[in-house]
Amino acid sequence: MEFEVIIGLEVHAQLLTESKAYSTDSTEYGSLPNVHLTPLTLALPGTLPVINKAVVESAVKMGIACHSDITRRNIYDRKNYFYPDLPKGYQITQDKTPICLGGFVEADMPDGEVLRVEITRIHMEEDAGKSLHIEGEEESFVDFNRAGVPLIEIVTEPCIRSSEEAAAYLMEVRKMVRYLDICDGNMEEGSLRCDANVSLREKGTTAFNKKVEVKNMNSFKNVQRALEYEIQRQRGIYESGGAIEESETRNFDPVSGRTIPMRSKEDLNDYRYFPEPDLPPLVVSEEWINSIRDGMPSLPRELLKKFTQDYKVPDYNARVLTENKGVAQYFDELCGQTKNHKQASNWVMGPVKSYLNELTKTIDEFPIVPKDLGHLIDIIAEGKLSNSMAEQRVFPEMIQNPGRSAEEIAQRLNLILEDNTEELREIVKKVLGAMPAKVEEYKNGKKGLQGLFMGQIMKETKGKANPKEASKILSEELDQ
Ligand code: ADP
Ligand code: MG
Repeated sequence: MEFEVIIGLEVHAQLLTESKAYSTDSTEYGSLPNVHLTPLTLALPGTLPVINKAVVESAVKMGIACHSDITRRNIYDRKNYFYPDLPKGYQITQDKTPICLGGFVEADMPDGEVLRVEITRIHMEEDAGKSLHIEGEEESFVDFNRAGVPLIEIVTEPCIRSSEEAAAYLMEVRKMVRYLDICDGNMEEGSLRCDANVSLREKGTTAFNKKVEVKNMNSFKNVQRALEYEIQRQRGIYESGGAIEESETRNFDPVSGRTIPMRSKEDLNDYRYFPEPDLPPLVVSEEWINSIRDGMPSLPRELLKKFTQDYKVPDYNARVLTENKGVAQYFDELCGQTKNHKQASNWVMGPVKSYLNELTKTIDEFPIVPKDLGHLIDIIAEGKLSNSMAEQRVFPEMIQNPGRSAEEIAQRLNLILEDNTEELREIVKKVLGAMPAKVEEYKNGKKGLQGLFMGQIMKETKGKANPKEASKILSEELDQ
């Protein structure tokens, strides 16, 4: 029997707002336990929640980026359940009117195919606190600093067909939230979390089978591992004549690489959703949406298109350059300073990146402004400076002396290539005149000798001849 894999992902992104979703408590990470905790976060009697504007704007940004419809009249809902890390006994979330509906995310597959993942909804909610079970202690502890920290949940349609597709989608989502500056995208630290829903069905059929939801995967790698394991496990069940009888939730164990039952849908809570009585409906006006859109940066895929289509940069280079927002923006600015776009891409991917990697710096800390690097690239293209001298001598000097022009440095280091054609022709003649036997051999077909002649010319000019020009004159002289 041949199977088709069905996957739908639910991604939680912790928002980078300064205060919590419904209170003025700080969202700062790494403080002492239970310091970001006003009576509001604890929902003590007499307190009333307040909507955080930055949360709404972050959610709308993601919705615009995903081509979703933005809900104009939003209702907040209470999701009730008891858990020690949930001080209020409920979460304020959105059930019936998610702020974003529909839309899609496009992502690149490793083979170059473009994957399109349909988005079901994006809604706003708040995080719970953290229970701490410390080894050797008889009691458990709870830290409420995270309680009330804002999240958005991004839910896809069951349209993903392999673990590779799931990974490609997740990577794109991470890139998007980072470009939008709404979430730091760190899976290991839990600011980006993913629950994966998986089922299989016989190829050619259309009905869905019962699904399994896998939780607790804190890296891209583990999402893929968990999905692979779960796909194999379910295939085994179907192949041996069984079936997934009940939807269930399973936990991924990174050590064994297996998924372990957590709970079945049967024991699932009834969350008794009802509209949050303490928050009025939130109306998102057209003007507000437009002003949010106007303030958004270019997204990775827009820049990818710009780099390949407008700047004619090779596809691979454009992908590497859009991995990181700062690098992409630097390159974009650089292309406004030089017409030599392809060379510019090589410079950013080569010397610039090596410098940053070596010193573990980010592009914001890179000392050469695009205008100055553009000028360096231009004088190389004009034949005034050799690429190797630019990399080895001029570029490091520019880093040491930000603001000084490449040409000035090249001049001071005596690296400007001679542009005197007549003088160069004399030198070529002199070099050839000193090696009549070799010239004879060349004329009899030993074309490889060109390298020897060029070497001599470079030696005579102390490396300052423009190689292109020298080679042209050399050919002219030899072919006489
Ligand atoms: P639940 O009610 O269990 O939360 P939802 O309908 O809200 O289920 O869907 C949650 C996620 O599961 C969505 O991303 C959706 O695409 C995915 N999903 C739904 N049905 C299936 C299925 N049969 N197989 C795989 N994924 C599914
Ligand atoms: Mg659901």
